[in-house]
Amino acid sequence: MDAKTCIQKLRLIASVTMATVGEDGSPQARIIGVMHTEDEKLYFLTARGKPFYHELLSEKKVAVLGLSRFKEMIRLNGAPELLPKEEQGKWLSLLFEENPYMANVYPGETREVLEVFCIRHGEIEYFHLGVRPIVRESYTIGNGVLCEKLLYTITDDCNGCGICMRHCPQSCIKIGVPYSVEQAHCLRCGACMENCPVAAVKYRKE
Ligand code: SF4
Ligand code: SF4
Repeated sequence: MDAKTCIQKLRLIASVTMATVGEDGSPQARIIGVMHTEDEKLYFLTARGKPFYHELLSEKKVAVLGLSRFKEMIRLNGAPELLPKEEQGKWLSLLFEENPYMANVYPGETREVLEVFCIRHGEIEYFHLGVRPIVRESYTIGNGVLCEKLLYTITDDCNGCGICMRHCPQSCIKIGVPYSVEQAHCLRCGACMENCPVAAVKYRKE
């Protein structure tokens, strides 16, 4: 998997959740259409009169989340950019061409109330629950950076009793000194920490 394929998968899923922060600071989530992708860029649109439009311009960050029919969860945390005014007509035509149902929603010249945004900087998390062991990977697009993640890790206090392995749903704890967690397959369920008799498992940012 890679960032470009994740973006393409979001286009295939087509209707995804996009979360913003409302004017009063409350979380806002909407279903939006991923209307076009190019390389590692995702395009969508909305109308100037919607609160969503103003949240996009004021907060300048969104979380996009889609789930494929194969149980692949793809999350994109990124910065939405309003495309330049002089390019809006070109992009609007392209998005309407690729998404014909939009002509039913905004027929004729009524489409002029719409504006096109692009996300080209951000971080992607790919989480595939349809395979065993599950797979978890992270990528960046544009000048996005990978954020620190809260992970379950095993410290040198581990005595090698093996109890955590018996409780791990994905068998992703490796024998060693100390034992270790294979992070790419970890659900982050916390069962290892709950069951370790010597508190050798920690939940911390790495
Ligand atoms: S349960 Fe704790 S002490 Fe035992 S192997 Fe796992 S991490 Fe190490
Ligand atoms: S958090 Fe859950 S999946 Fe990850 S190593 Fe611990 S028990 Fe296994």
